[in-house]
This record gives sequence, C-alpha cells and structure tokens, in this order.
Amino acid sequence: MTHIITSLCVRDRGCIDVCPVECMIAGQPLNEWPWIYIDPDTCIDCGACVPECPFAAIFPEDEVPSAYTAKGGEYISNVGLTGHFEGTNHHGGPIVLDTTRQLEAGEVVDFTPDIQPNYDFFKTGPGYSAKDIDDGK
Ligand code: SF4
Ligand code: SF4
Repeated sequence: MTHIITSLCVRDRGCIDVCPVECMIAGQPLNEWPWIYIDPDTCIDCGACVPECPFAAIFPEDEVPSAYTAKGGEYISNVGLTGHFEGTNHHGGPIVLDTTRQLEAGEVVDFTPDIQPNYDFFKTGPGYSAKDIDDGK
C-alpha cells in the first residue's frame, strides 16, 4: 500500500521534510501537477507525514474518503479548476495556485479519483525529475 495526497493539498510543503524515505515530490508544472505526490513504490506507510499536514490532505490509500463532508472554506486544487489561491507555505515562501475551488459547508466530495494521479505522476508524469525544476512554489 501507500499513502495518498488528495486534492486538499495546497502545497504547504510541511510534509516533505519529515518523510524518512524522501518519496514526496512537489509536482511541476503546477497547472498539470498541482499537488505534492507520494511515490507508491517507495512509501513505507510510516504515517509520519499525516500529522504534518495542516490541511489534512494525506490518507492511507484504503482510507481516502469517498464522501468527505466539507467544513466549508477549505480549498481543493485540481487540474481544470480555475479559482485562485494565495498563501504562505511551511517555510514562509509564497503559494500561488490557479487550479483551485473553495468548498461550501456540507458539500460532499469524493476524493478517490485523486488516488490515480499519485501513481501517474511517477509512471507517466515527471516523477523525481520534477525536483530538477522545483522553484519552491
Ligand atoms: S503538508 Fe499537506 S498541504 Fe502541505 S504539501 Fe503536504 S499534503 Fe500538501
Ligand atoms: S507515509 Fe511515511 S514514507 Fe509514506 S510518504 Fe508519508 S512520511 Fe513518507
């Protein structure tokens, strides 16, 4: 199994530093790969990243919610969305995302479609080579 980052990720980057096997990679380019991605072949399911995420975006693969009830106000970031999000990450750097949408209170969201992109990122996407063009955003 692996852990999975869902579209609740807004690239705070707090999780990356704690991963003991360095298998969390910031997607690039942003409009195609807006999250941080976990290499499913390398993740050892230690769970260390989960409490580091201020947005509760990380789940064991078999616990990714199919019916997440939004508190309201949280952002999701996904390819094709057109909302704008600006914030500051764990290291004080800027976060600017243009692939976002803010959830409404009580809205129910299925995050299981977010599982496959984590595999695709490493199989057919940039994978670890994204580190070479990572600009910290
Ligand atoms: S800590 Fe959460 S929001 Fe931040 S990069 Fe990791 S998964 Fe994304
Ligand atoms: S569960 Fe552990 S090994 Fe897997 S991504 Fe999180 S910190 Fe890394």
